[in-house]
Amino acid sequence: MLSLFHPDAYISSLADITPRYFIERGIKGLIIDLDNTLLSWESGAIEPEISGILKEYIAAGLKLCVVSNSFNSRVSGILSPLGIPGVAMARKPRRKPFLKAMKILGTGTNETAVIGDQLFTDVCGGNRLGFYTVLVKPISKKEFLGTRVVRIAEKIVIRKLVKKQIINAPGRRP
Ligand SMILES: [Mg+2]
Repeated sequence: MLSLFHPDAYISSLADITPRYFIERGIKGLIIDLDNTLLSWESGAIEPEISGILKEYIAAGLKLCVVSNSFNSRVSGILSPLGIPGVAMARKPRRKPFLKAMKILGTGTNETAVIGDQLFTDVCGGNRLGFYTVLVKPISKKEFLGTRVVRIAEKIVIRKLVKKQIINAPGRRP
């Protein structure tokens, strides 16, 4: 059961993971979460530092697709300036939006990674399909009440995974 919530890597920020890290593992496409992974949920645009990292990924030949539980107009409004495709209203951890994103990426299961800040939606959803999964620390502490409740359970699981040395505490460059 715990293995479903076990990310392959745990990082502090997207800046901690280079394109090369993925390429060396045979990964060609990245499915990336939006809120609190690329920007805080109250924000309407991705900060230049993060969009610079996304451009680096693209320049290295990686394909990107955002999968978000947020609504359509918000997702497309944020992504269209960057030319990155998105799947909105995803209701992660359902399989369907991830499969849709993989189709957009044109990658196979072993060539796809999921990056997100939530264990029970991003990591669990990615693991259900056998993708490489990366848990990233949330950009902002400001979240919806429902998410804040989920974070408590999430913290317990993460602490257990770190204690069992299944994952490293973040901050180390993987
Ligand atoms: Mg998120």
